Amino acid sequence: MTDKRESPIEISGDDFKKTGYQLVDAIANFIETINEKPVTTGENPKQIQQLLGNASLPDDGIAVSEIVAKSTDLLLEHSLLNGHPKFFGYITSSPTPIGALADFLAAAVNPNVGANILSPMATAIEKQTIKWLSEFIGAPSSCGGLLVSGGNMANFTAFLAARTAKAPKSLKEDGLTNTAGEMVFYCSKATHTWIEKAAVLFGHGTKAIRWIETDAANKMNTAILEQTINDDLKIGKKPFLVIGNAGDVSTGVVDDLSAIATICKAHELWFHIDGAYGIPAAIIPEYKKLFEGIQEADSIALDPHKWLYAPLEAGCTLVKNPQHLIDTYSSHPAYYNFSSHEDEPSLNYYEFGFQNSRGFRALKVWMALQQVGKKGYIEMIGEDIALAQLLFEEANKHQELEAVSQNLSITTFQYVPPAYVHSEKESQEYLNSLNENLLNKLQEAGEVFLSNAVVAGKYCLRACIVNFRTSKKDIHEVIEIVVREGRKVHETLQNK
Ligand SMILES: *Cc1c(COP(=O)(O)O)cnc(C)c1O
Repeated sequence: MTDKRESPIEISGDDFKKTGYQLVDAIANFIETINEKPVTTGENPKQIQQLLGNASLPDDGIAVSEIVAKSTDLLLEHSLLNGHPKFFGYITSSPTPIGALADFLAAAVNPNVGANILSPMATAIEKQTIKWLSEFIGAPSSCGGLLVSGGNMANFTAFLAARTAKAPKSLKEDGLTNTAGEMVFYCSKATHTWIEKAAVLFGHGTKAIRWIETDAANKMNTAILEQTINDDLKIGKKPFLVIGNAGDVSTGVVDDLSAIATICKAHELWFHIDGAYGIPAAIIPEYKKLFEGIQEADSIALDPHKWLYAPLEAGCTLVKNPQHLIDTYSSHPAYYNFSSHEDEPSLNYYEFGFQNSRGFRALKVWMALQQVGKKGYIEMIGEDIALAQLLFEEANKHQELEAVSQNLSITTFQYVPPAYVHSEKESQEYLNSLNENLLNKLQEAGEVFLSNAVVAGKYCLRACIVNFRTSKKDIHEVIEIVVREGRKVHETLQNK
């Protein structure tokens, strides 16, 4: 009998090495050959389920090496590969390889980053990550915040901090309906759907959202914003928050953040920036001006799992005065002994947001920031933008493509058959249906992955390049693929 407990789930050092090295070999090979694979296999859900079979929960265990080999094969051979150089869908990036190593390490140590005492080094690393992310985008140096699961959670976390800051203090005890009057908030029509979830989940209702019209450039019309706030004040509503987009989810437009900040200041409203996708571009010197106003924001949401290429999941909330997070989320039950150190008050991340037990999301972000530094990110983000611009120019030049919009690293365009008169209404309807069919066909075929956007009534193909593997060659090939498949879909529709 040894002192060590015999546990069925333990893996010996030797076995861990053996199986672990095999896994590392498989992943290294996967990374090296990812550009030779299709973006997706095109297998349907039924085929995928057949690969798993439908066995019941097993009674007995099997060898680790067998499970790892099987799981590796299932995932590496039957997944949609957002790490592929021709993956441009939605806003999902190629994941940093160092992020995979970071998650491996984080899982092995398993710090609970809810409380400092449970995660002394991890908490310090998260704190430094927050500081570096603030510096990255040029946010105020007073910013505090935390890593969360993604953009939705980052925006929710800030939304409630804004509400705590602007509602009467009695809100916490008496609830929304009894104290706050009718609180309303403002965002442009291009705002991501998180705002609707927030309105519903946090008890305001979707009628509390003031959807502000956009101007010709698709930015929030700030004259209408000002007017709407004044109208609301006249009828006794309680405005508390304005959301500016720093890269709207559909086409990448950055609102006039300075103008919004000025209006917020005049009316004492909380100014939140949703920069989930686009705000990392503020690191590029030529783009500083586009993002002017970041310094005035009370809170900012950004997603390291988008343009910082962190593997899912990593979102981040930054708050200019982090005390607002503590005011919103902190509680002190008797069963927590997370008291302060004498020399420095302890930083307990459970007091900053929704989560209690927390994983170590910061590590993969922190490690990638060190791998390439500011310069590396300036280069990669700049190239992503240049590639999206190249796609726009190539689409513009091509007789059978119409380039529709280009902002940051998002380009939208339509396939238009040769000699097609597209000024008439029916032809636009036809083009919309043609492009929708084309998108579905492209997504199934797996040569390239695009998503869609509706821009000024046009159903567009949309490429969002947050992909450090994409090259100019990929862009030229995408043009060829879209035109080749577009012709086929057009022909099929004509013969119907
Ligand atoms: C992607 C995105 C979101 C949602 O982020 P998730 O990480 O998917 O939750 C919110 N706002 C904007 C502007 C986005 O681009």
